[in-house]
Amino acid sequence: MLWSQTFIPTLKETPSDAEIVSHQLLLRAGLIRKLTGGLYTFLPMGLRTLRKIEQIIREEMNRAGGIEVLMPALQPPEIWQQSGRYETASGVLFKVRDSAKKEWVLGPTHEEVITTLAASEINSYRQLPKNFYQIQTKFRDEIRPRFGLMRAKEFLMKDAYSFDTSDEGAMASYKRMYDAYTRIFTRCGLQAFPVEADTGVIGGNYSHEFMVPAETGENDVAYCEACHYAANIEKAISGLPKTAARDLGPEPEQFPTPGAITIESLAKAPFGIPANRQIKTLVYIADGQPVLILIRGYDQLNESKFMARTGAIEARPADVKNPTDLVHFTTLGALPGSLGAVRSVPLTWKVFADERLRGANEMTTGANSDGFHLRNVSIERDIRVSDWFDLRTVRAGEPCAKCAKPLKIRRAIEVGHVFKLGTKYSEKLNATFVAEDGSPHPAVMGCYGIGVSRTLQAIIEQSNDKDGIIWPLSVAPYHVCITPLNYSPEGQPMTLGLQLLAELTAAGIEVILDDRDERPGVKFKDSELVGFPLRVNLGEKSLAKGEVELKPRTGPVKCVPIAEAAAEVIAWFHTEKAHYV
Ligand code: ATP
Ligand code: MG
Repeated sequence: MLWSQTFIPTLKETPSDAEIVSHQLLLRAGLIRKLTGGLYTFLPMGLRTLRKIEQIIREEMNRAGGIEVLMPALQPPEIWQQSGRYETASGVLFKVRDSAKKEWVLGPTHEEVITTLAASEINSYRQLPKNFYQIQTKFRDEIRPRFGLMRAKEFLMKDAYSFDTSDEGAMASYKRMYDAYTRIFTRCGLQAFPVEADTGVIGGNYSHEFMVPAETGENDVAYCEACHYAANIEKAISGLPKTAARDLGPEPEQFPTPGAITIESLAKAPFGIPANRQIKTLVYIADGQPVLILIRGYDQLNESKFMARTGAIEARPADVKNPTDLVHFTTLGALPGSLGAVRSVPLTWKVFADERLRGANEMTTGANSDGFHLRNVSIERDIRVSDWFDLRTVRAGEPCAKCAKPLKIRRAIEVGHVFKLGTKYSEKLNATFVAEDGSPHPAVMGCYGIGVSRTLQAIIEQSNDKDGIIWPLSVAPYHVCITPLNYSPEGQPMTLGLQLLAELTAAGIEVILDDRDERPGVKFKDSELVGFPLRVNLGEKSLAKGEVELKPRTGPVKCVPIAEAAAEVIAWFHTEKAHYV
């Protein structure tokens, strides 16, 4: 390919609206252009890499027994109503209307469509197991599209759905996908690690996310270097001990705490009540209903754990500035800072308490009277708790629940997700099969997603330097960039360049020849910005010495005789390629 015949609009300046390095490089290297927030056009270099990632995914999915299909992006809302997600996923569903004013949904994911297909096509255990996948555009009404392709409104996903006759079969399908994902990311030159994950709105009971460690990621992962436990913070647990039990003391006693409305202020003089002897009381609105959540003063509530356990679809802290919420504080009798669950909690309100508070005595909590707290509170004696469970967010340094070594926390980008779904969708959408003994059963499902476009950007986020992108060979838009330093159609640099282009292309190498009439400095900068793994410099000075320069993107220049240039590049290519199989 000649540089002048493709389209690589590189930028010298960093676009001001791109906050993270991968987003800046996508724009600067001319891989994508923004139409509007969350919507991007892939330009030739971006598209070539996208197709390569797709191809790696396709090969590994096929190798793992996946069957490729292509489902419609436009879907009838009825199947979403049937699965129950018309409501639960309404936050991300794009809805459109046709000329007859009938509503349609743009697919954010395809469990409903594939399960409808399975319901009509799969009748017998003899047809199972099956794992269908597609690589297709998804639409999500993200509240905050940002970071370029990382969180877009329209993006490319590989999604797969397995159907099995039994739980064991579903587990085996899950394991095959988990292993395929490991191979896919390795082949893309991306370091991605599986971590235990929350199952969220999709539902189901077992899940891992594949995470790329990066400061700019939107997830926190807790991990243990000793035993390799790793989990999304939404799910992570630690071995932190419970609040030390003390003898059951006297009845709760109210005492004045004027102006002390934070855990910290009560921990200081004159009160001196350690944070872990205080009960923090949070008023939450869960699916429209007020509830109380109790955690230790020192702890942070983990909303994902709360939602996972209670099944709440929406949960948010009650807000004193919101008049409908303010009523709930009036019912309790106090504003945040003096809230508690010992008295004046309506019987209809549920009270959820963190497991680590179980058995705690001699605790201090708000008295539901502004400016007062209660001491000597025994949570089990004095508070009506509806349910106890793990509600807190783990912190770095807490002991690992498995091996007691200190946990670490780091930011990461989620590039893939594997889920064991069970029979949630097959039951709702009637995907049943007849077993060997003639009895009907819902198929046991799994679903498996990879953000193809997000993966592309994650590779850049993980692999770049001050000069630009450093593509792993397997996904580079071109493997080699030939750079004649003097543009003159008849000159030796261009003639030799064209000859090498033909020879290397014939050897299966993807080559771009920079035939632009530009200064060497401009060409070098552009090829480094776009990140081609190898550049072949054809300069008059070195050619006069009978040599060409091979410059790997991140290695030193090597001078080789003209006659050996093609063979050297081919040898380099095969050595490099071996790293990604
Ligand atoms: P996130 O928590 O980042 O919103 P998700 O849990 O909603 O992700 P899934 O529904 O599991 O994501 O989708 C599968 C994959 O699709 C994700 O692992 C991610 O790589 C990708 N993905 C999800 N949402 C987006 C988006 N808005 N833009 C680009 N890729 C996305
Ligand atoms: Mg999402």
